[in-house]
Amino acid sequence: MIFSKHNIFSKIKDSENFFIVNLLTGNADIVNLADAEKINRVRTNHSVVEDNFLKELAEKGYWVDEKEETKLYQSKYLDFIDSRDDDEIQLFFVPNYNCNFACSYCYQDEYAPTKGLLTNEIIDSFFKYVQAEFAGRKKYITVFGGEPLLNSPKQKELISYFIDQANAAKLDISFVTNGYTLSDYIDIIKQGRVREVQITLDGTAAVHDSRRFLKGGTGTFDRIVSGIDACIANKLTVNLRMVIDKENIDNLPEFARSAIDKGWTKSPYFKSQIGRNYELHHCQSAPSKLFSRISLYEELYKIIKQHPHIIEFYKPAYSISKFLFENGSLPDPLFDSCPACKSEWAFDYTGQIYSCTATVGKSDESLGTFYPEVSRKEDMISSWENRDVTSIPECNTCNMQLACGGGCGSIAKNRTGNVCSSDCRPIKELLELGFASYFEKEFS
Ligand code: SF4
Ligand code: SF4
Repeated sequence: MIFSKHNIFSKIKDSENFFIVNLLTGNADIVNLADAEKINRVRTNHSVVEDNFLKELAEKGYWVDEKEETKLYQSKYLDFIDSRDDDEIQLFFVPNYNCNFACSYCYQDEYAPTKGLLTNEIIDSFFKYVQAEFAGRKKYITVFGGEPLLNSPKQKELISYFIDQANAAKLDISFVTNGYTLSDYIDIIKQGRVREVQITLDGTAAVHDSRRFLKGGTGTFDRIVSGIDACIANKLTVNLRMVIDKENIDNLPEFARSAIDKGWTKSPYFKSQIGRNYELHHCQSAPSKLFSRISLYEELYKIIKQHPHIIEFYKPAYSISKFLFENGSLPDPLFDSCPACKSEWAFDYTGQIYSCTATVGKSDESLGTFYPEVSRKEDMISSWENRDVTSIPECNTCNMQLACGGGCGSIAKNRTGNVCSSDCRPIKELLELGFASYFEKEFS
């Protein structure tokens, strides 16, 4: 018998207690100091620990027969692959790369302007490819940019035509927009089977306007807020995203308060998320202004302790902590956290196919074309399709693997040149914060 290779064990932040989690056997517990000391002894020399305690650990799936554990791992992996075949596919479509904003931190400024324009013929080819390639799969489309909802009659015609084709194919559609022209587009987009409209606001008026302004410098806050109100009034779900770095995080308490006071957080048509401003390929912000994954969550943990009303606006997931709290059980083991070329693809108006939003528009990342003719770079596609914790060498021996899933393939490739390499997530540290936030009160 061994201490399971998938146990994640650590001390809860700001507490005397510890947690132990095992995604393979589906168990999670909070343990006091005395039991934590015994667990530590089990890890080093189990013969000094009484049999009853080992029996208890075995019953909970933390103390296991190695061969049985391998069998369970293989069977859960097969379940994961099977269930992925039923996953809904998210298909991103970029109608243009240009944008009316000049955000202070935009990474897309490195892309050379691409020639040509979207046409109805290209839209038809996209839908033809989607119907042939993903026949029989659940799927929906997300229109993305650049800024897809640019304010010109031609763009409105194209977006209308795109929505008509999505409706004809019975596909739901989402939009990712900076929100500036939303009020002008409401009547057009509500013709579609709209799942959500993702809009970015980086804080209250002055903070937002110092980061997300028009080319030329004009502020954008007021028009975006009107667009959000118009969406909610028209029963279009808003997914409000705040992009955070060290320059605007202190504005989160006030921003959350204003969203609550506006009544947004009570609306069934409102949800929110926080995006970390980070260096994916290139970012105009100085790296010293950016948070690492863990430092962002450490900061959120501190700020939420001081300003608990933030929870009404945004609840951090802290890895699987929020899921565990809300469902009373762990999620299934995550053998792969990168949906690229599995349940996510991206397409652009030049006819190119990409793995996802992180690679779209980078010519060396193109995986083929859907227009003017269909072509596929099968070798590149396979390397994305085959990426999971069983194929990434570093992940094989990592006890976090079933909570981490190997991270992002694009970040891994930027780091090592190889998609099939690791992008480590600070799982243990996130769980330390998550157990403190979601469970410690109940336990004590
Ligand atoms: S490469 Fe990164 S951004 Fe793209 S789907 Fe995978 S995890 Fe997401
Ligand atoms: S990416 Fe890193 S943390 Fe995640 S499973 Fe692999 S080795 Fe572990």
